Amino acid sequence: MTDTSFRIVILGGGTAGWMSAAALARFAPPGYAVTLIESDAIGTVGVGEATIPPIRLFNNALGIDEAEFLRETSASYKLGIEFDGWLREGHSYMHAFGTVGRQHGLLPFRHYWARGAAMGIARPLGHYSANEIAARTGRMATGVSGPGIPELPWAYHFDASLYAAFLRRHAEGMSVTRHEGRVAQVQRHENGDIAAVETEDGRTFAGDFFIDCSGFRGVLIEEALQTGYDDWRQWLPCDRAVVVPCEAAGPFTPYTRSIARSAGWQWRIPLQHRIGNGLVYCSEYLSDDAAVRTLLSHLEAPTQADPRPLRFVTGRRRKTWNHNVLAVGLSSGFMEPLESTSIHLIQSVITRFLTVLPSAPVGDAVREGFNRRCAEDFEGIRDFLILHYKANAREGEPFWDHCRTMPIPASLEARIAEFREACVIQPGTDELFTEVAWLQVLTGQGVMPERWNPIADALSPEDLGGFLGAVEKACIETVRPMPLHLDFLAGRCARP
Ligand code: FAD
Repeated sequence: MTDTSFRIVILGGGTAGWMSAAALARFAPPGYAVTLIESDAIGTVGVGEATIPPIRLFNNALGIDEAEFLRETSASYKLGIEFDGWLREGHSYMHAFGTVGRQHGLLPFRHYWARGAAMGIARPLGHYSANEIAARTGRMATGVSGPGIPELPWAYHFDASLYAAFLRRHAEGMSVTRHEGRVAQVQRHENGDIAAVETEDGRTFAGDFFIDCSGFRGVLIEEALQTGYDDWRQWLPCDRAVVVPCEAAGPFTPYTRSIARSAGWQWRIPLQHRIGNGLVYCSEYLSDDAAVRTLLSHLEAPTQADPRPLRFVTGRRRKTWNHNVLAVGLSSGFMEPLESTSIHLIQSVITRFLTVLPSAPVGDAVREGFNRRCAEDFEGIRDFLILHYKANAREGEPFWDHCRTMPIPASLEARIAEFREACVIQPGTDELFTEVAWLQVLTGQGVMPERWNPIADALSPEDLGGFLGAVEKACIETVRPMPLHLDFLAGRCARP
């Protein structure tokens, strides 16, 4: 390829835009020119503070130094998500990252735990997760493992605007060109592909390929190409959020809290300089004023800004890649941040794109395969999120009654049924949420298996009790030497 023979134009400078730009700057070979256009007047959505462990792969791939990242984005560590009140008021469970228990022979731990639970000798599932024990005791360390326990995985909470700014410095330092301006017009080729975008002030940016990171509106993928959107509100009915930061106060938890409220849920995300809070709710069941009151009445410290309202439609763009446009971020769809999956989807789409990086117009086969795999990613996450709502026992609350009785996708129906019937969980190898993630949320939401694999019955009750006890002890011993989250973070953020 000769110099700059393939021009990629990214529209949007939020998390999606700068993650895409940074990844292309790092991995696209010579000959690719990457331009990013963003509008200061429009701004970014600016939320998106909780992540899941694969973000570390992304940062590592870009060559980002963790200490610098932690300092620049005011980040904290995250070991899992606590769900309070999702089954019923007063009940709590955690979806912790990493393993739960330990395989015995060939059989996964869940069969032994299910038998022990039925016999009344097993402790709650979280007692067999080193991540959960560390999270609940406010401890954190990297590189820690114990007997039969692999290294504890972690993710981060960070300030989304600071992360975008951090990646911008990174990308601009590696030859991405940024332009400020509002795109007002789109020029098309005869075959429907986009040829160029024009800003309000008359500048034209021609490209061979466009990455639409323009947020909910989807300026290229929807307004120009009219790709279409599958609306999933029949399964994920929340359609609004109100967000507000407050001063750092209360426990500096190495986990996200998700607290069920009357018509949705509230998050609490501790950062170094503040706590991020938001209420996700369903406008059919809660007015905007009541949502603001609910959020503000549950804060631990004075707010740092006015509450900010946001509206969304849960669902996904019918094609992630249409013509010569790839939708990344909110332009490709939105599922509420219950399991912190949006930034992950940005990462997975851009990583997949790099595996098929075009150097010329791409044929239908590549595009269709790409879109099929993106659809599977979205649908796997969708089903996992719906489970949290569907399997609730908050009887007598209209929103929760609606969720408990709503029809759900057949794929999820089948998953719940096979777990209930025989403790079976079999996610596909490409699925984001592992067997252990499903186990924690299924049982946390009160779905218990009626039977388990009979191989688990081969242990005598004493041996079963001994096995469960040994696993719990190994988790506790693994966590015991770990420092407190605050101290560990301070050490990691220290300048050399
Ligand atoms: P935006 O941030 O909206 O950026 C759009 C960009 O496009 C901006 O730069 C804008 O200026 C530009 N633009 C738009 N139109 C034009 C135009 N015509 N011309 C020029 N520029 C234009 N994700 C997580 O992973 N974890 C979370 O905890 C989490 N919490 C969330 C909570 C809520 C309530 C919401 C709504 C989302 C949350 N997300 C979360 C999702 C996360 O915020 C987004 O995935 C992420 O910020 C990416 O946004 P974006 O870059 O696609 O869009």
